[in-house]
Amino acid sequence: RTLAAGLEKTRGGFMARINALFSGGKLVDDAVLADLEEVLFTADIGVKTATRLIESAREKVRKKELSDPEKLKRALRDEIARILALDGVADGAGAPIQVGEARPWVIMVVGVNGSGKTTTVGKLASKLQAAGHKVLLGAGDTFRAAAGEQLEIWAERVGAPIVRGKEGGDPAAVCFEAVQKGAQDGVDVVLCDTAGRLHTKTPLMEELKKVKRVIGKAAAGAPHEVLLVLDATNGQNAIAQARQFNEALGVTGIALTKLDGTAKGGVVIGICDELRIPVRYVGVGETVADLKPFAPREFVEALFE
Ligand code: GDP
Repeated sequence: RTLAAGLEKTRGGFMARINALFSGGKLVDDAVLADLEEVLFTADIGVKTATRLIESAREKVRKKELSDPEKLKRALRDEIARILALDGVADGAGAPIQVGEARPWVIMVVGVNGSGKTTTVGKLASKLQAAGHKVLLGAGDTFRAAAGEQLEIWAERVGAPIVRGKEGGDPAAVCFEAVQKGAQDGVDVVLCDTAGRLHTKTPLMEELKKVKRVIGKAAAGAPHEVLLVLDATNGQNAIAQARQFNEALGVTGIALTKLDGTAKGGVVIGICDELRIPVRYVGVGETVADLKPFAPREFVEALFE
């Protein structure tokens, strides 16, 4: 599935409404701006970002720079492209995971249950292995038995070794062992899955902080990447989740899944604007090829197409 196909629902949602506002050659006046405001506020891009976009548009119209609808639409598009490009952020937008020098290169993958975390770990393992890296999987989601089994299937499919703990065992211990084994066996990348259940005795963030700390004990400098998996169908809640994970763990990259199933694709804009963390991948389906490196320009083009 192409990115454009994956964004079909989003394009049919808020983008269709924006396009309708600007079609027909009607000059942009206060009524059009009010409509634009309403569309932006219901587009799952987050209040802060919507406010910024509408204020910038209003300013341009007020200065009589842009009452031509086509021009205003182009300005909006440029502004969104700028947000997605994460100017000024080192290792900015559109960067898929880079495997650095350290061995093993350790990627800790986090996210709430159902976000597509385990599937994303499997897809990434497949991609990294195909790129010539030797991968080892750590099944750190010991809470959900199915997660371990699911990861085992991926490991087999990809031909990567896996470290699995006992069901209900200590996730930090599993990740520690995975990193240690990765170092012993000379693998290039260790991908650690983690738990994502929200309601249990130990608060999730505390558990994940511990996992991160313990991974650091197994290999100095690890984890080298904390990849947060977010479900795009959650819309603005995904932005709130990202904020929470980032505060607790210091997220270094985001994979946004299930764009194909939602009209809430505008959430990418809010994530980039509010969090300024690189979106590394977007998911537009269930196969490995459907996990796509996030290309901001292509994304904007697909939206405004
Ligand atoms: P986890 O609980 O976060 O580990 O979630 P899973 O990895 O088990 O994924 C939950 C479901 O979402 C599975 O059925 C996946 O196939 C599905 N899924 C993951 N990513 C995508 C995506 O980009 N698009 C679609 N349509 N489904 C996805």
